[in-house]
Amino acid sequence: MPYCPQCHTEYQPDAKECVDCRIPLVEGKPEFCPRCNEFVSEDDTFCDHCGLLQPEIPADETPECENHPDVDAVGGCVICGKPVCDECAREQHGRIFCESDDHLNLHQGFVVAYTTSTDYEAQMIKANLEGAGIDTVIFNQHDHVYFTNMGMLALVKVMVKRSQLEDALEIIDALLADDELSGDEDENEGDTA
Ligand SMILES: [Zn+2]
Ligand SMILES: [Zn+2]
Ligand SMILES: [Zn+2]
Ligand SMILES: [Zn+2]
Repeated sequence: MPYCPQCHTEYQPDAKECVDCRIPLVEGKPEFCPRCNEFVSEDDTFCDHCGLLQPEIPADETPECENHPDVDAVGGCVICGKPVCDECAREQHGRIFCESDDHLNLHQGFVVAYTTSTDYEAQMIKANLEGAGIDTVIFNQHDHVYFTNMGMLALVKVMVKRSQLEDALEIIDALLADDELSGDEDENEGDTA
């Protein structure tokens, strides 16, 4: 059954467009994370929201823990995407983190303002945000072998302090509006989770 990639409503087989969102439907059925119930897209290895390894990933494609190359990962750090095994994973508020204290702490104070697949764009946005006095950090999945080895689309997340998110979004919107940098159709309004 086709479904809407935005609101995840399922439609009859002959439907072409979501009546609410007015966007084309995609084939298949929406998948939701068994742990947090958030929508996960078909190519996600880990749930974007809680980091859980998705159950439909075939065993031979399961990433190994980055610290223990012999052990399968159970999830990926929600901040940096690093694959971690049962022993290395740290869980807080139902989300998986790697062993870095920074990432755990960051998650409490920082939120994702923008997600992109290019380092360049992330750096450009960071420079602009910092120029406006907004604390900005970048997390780059390119740093993790798994994503590179699998030829997967690695994401670069631009994160800002929760209290500065609105200002940051305004600046990013303005930047994207008058710059050619959003050359692809990858529209991402940031993670609201
Ligand atoms: Zn819809
Ligand atoms: Zn989840
Ligand atoms: Zn991490
Ligand atoms: Zn491990």
